[in-house]
Amino acid sequence: MEDTIFDKILAGDSPADIVYEDDYVLAFNDINPQAPVHVIVIPKKKIRDFIKLQESDLQDIGLFFQMVSKVASSLKLDKDGYRIILNCGKNGQQTVEYLHAHILGERQMSWPPG
Ligand code: 5GP
Repeated sequence: MEDTIFDKILAGDSPADIVYEDDYVLAFNDINPQAPVHVIVIPKKKIRDFIKLQESDLQDIGLFFQMVSKVASSLKLDKDGYRIILNCGKNGQQTVEYLHAHILGERQMSWPPG
């Protein structure tokens, strides 16, 4: 499978405004922010697809969500809250085929989403 833009950012082959990094995840500002804070978090161990999540992915996805929570706290979003989004497939309007979480914060969200 072809590398996605997120593979390239992780490899250092494409620039990104990195806000958090550890052994497990990389977090960077979205190029087209939809909130005052809009960060993309990717697992360093690639999980391609949430829709086809395997039982063998469960430990990795659990760790990933723990790290997403940690990234949000590191951005000081834990007091007022934030929104986590996983766009999945065509109807979910996923554009990058590398599992990633959007963290949106520093504004009041509305419901339903668009
Ligand atoms: P998706 O629609 O797949 O859930 O989200 C992909 C996100 O990646 C979009 O919000 C888009 O703005 C962001 N994005 C796409 N290309 C780049 C890039 O080159 N750099 C950064 N920082 N974000 C990107």
